[in-house]
Amino acid sequence: MKSRFRAILISKHDDVQKVEDVELSRADLMEGDVTVEVSHSTVNYKDGLVLGGRSPVVRRFPMIPGIDLAGTVAESSHAGFKSGDKVLLNGFGLSETHYGGYSELARVKGDWLVPLPKAFSPAEAMAIGTAGYTAMLAVLALEDAHITPDKGAVVVSGAAGGVGSVATALLAKLGYRVIASTGRTEEVDYLKGLGAAEIIPRAELAADPRPLAKERWAGGIDSVGSKTLANMLVATSYGGAVAACGLAGGMDLPTSVAPFILRGVSLLGIDSVQMPMPRRRQAWDRLARDLDMSKLAAMTKTIVFGELRQAAQDILAGKVRGRVVVEIR
Ligand code: NDP
Repeated sequence: MKSRFRAILISKHDDVQKVEDVELSRADLMEGDVTVEVSHSTVNYKDGLVLGGRSPVVRRFPMIPGIDLAGTVAESSHAGFKSGDKVLLNGFGLSETHYGGYSELARVKGDWLVPLPKAFSPAEAMAIGTAGYTAMLAVLALEDAHITPDKGAVVVSGAAGGVGSVATALLAKLGYRVIASTGRTEEVDYLKGLGAAEIIPRAELAADPRPLAKERWAGGIDSVGSKTLANMLVATSYGGAVAACGLAGGMDLPTSVAPFILRGVSLLGIDSVQMPMPRRRQAWDRLARDLDMSKLAAMTKTIVFGELRQAAQDILAGKVRGRVVVEIR
């Protein structure tokens, strides 16, 4: 294990955040019972916010950003992990209160780690990352709400983004008719390649929502929020459900109780960060079973450490298609 290693560090002075490449030593790491040699990380929307240097995501400074990591255990005093084990980690306060994945070494709590599923290399696990694992959590939530393929179509918003791309591929493989909403008309072929049966323009879901609209789908997976989520809810058929994952379009939700009390529609909240371990492992097991690896490859771009900050700008500008993997070492 290296004694000195490369990382990105965010510090804050006089309310101004500074993001810089640094070299740290093992003594700089935070407390934890497992040290991981990080081989790969990824860029999620939240990472874009953090690297942008203005987000309230980071709650302690200095901070190493990166909400995801995958790699190999170098040292462990945790009963569940030993040196050489391949592991991954999503969320659990990484990049918020604990040093994250944009670092060649990470010291974390073993209780946060998921053994790397045999189906995936570390790079593939990070191609999935928090975005893909969240898409799987949303699919599981729809299944728990009895939204099966025979009930009708499922609409996916922000479909060309990370959560949206993985959700589209998963739902299609599971036999759902997927209606993909995107603001990028140039990505129609890409989304059809992932399994979308129909594409609708983003603008259709961005209009001012009515209290109720014609029933169009049995379920939805939303990573946009605001009017988009409202329009998804009001067009959900009787007894249907929409899983809310994100806020790429806004944090508000301008709707009424009509879909809930007149159509029995359910709004399913999805949080990946503090999700208890049994559900995480279930989600990763299901990803190993239900995600088509050729589709994962088609939605993934790989970058090197030095390209991280540009990728962060791109994801906030809505320019990233699918997922981005970062080679850390
Ligand atoms: P991406 O940027 O990859 O995807 C977001 C997509 O939303 C874009 O690609 C775009 O899709 C669409 N979009 C962007 N801006 C707007 C806008 N102003 N109005 C409408 N649509 C827009 O991000 P991720 O997939 O990584 O994350 C998506 C969201 O989910 C984020 O808000 C993120 O914070 C949240 N999230 C939440 C998690 C949780 O635990 N709840 C975990 C993971 C993510 P297109 O071009 O196809 O229209």
